[in-house]
Amino acid sequence: MFLMWIIPLLLIGLVVYAISGNNLVNAFQPASNRACPQCKQAVQNDWKTCPHCGQTL
Ligand SMILES: [Zn+2]
Repeated sequence: MFLMWIIPLLLIGLVVYAISGNNLVNAFQPASNRACPQCKQAVQNDWKTCPHCGQTL
């Protein structure tokens, strides 16, 4: 029966769409655009503390 095949395919398509959607969101947030929550200065993604105010990131 045709519907027996189309339903799981639709579910797989939704999962793939959700995963790729999250990746697109991450792609629009490059690491260099991260900001300190304390002083709002730009900080690198791999920095553990903010060099401007000492806030732990
Ligand atoms: Zn800071």
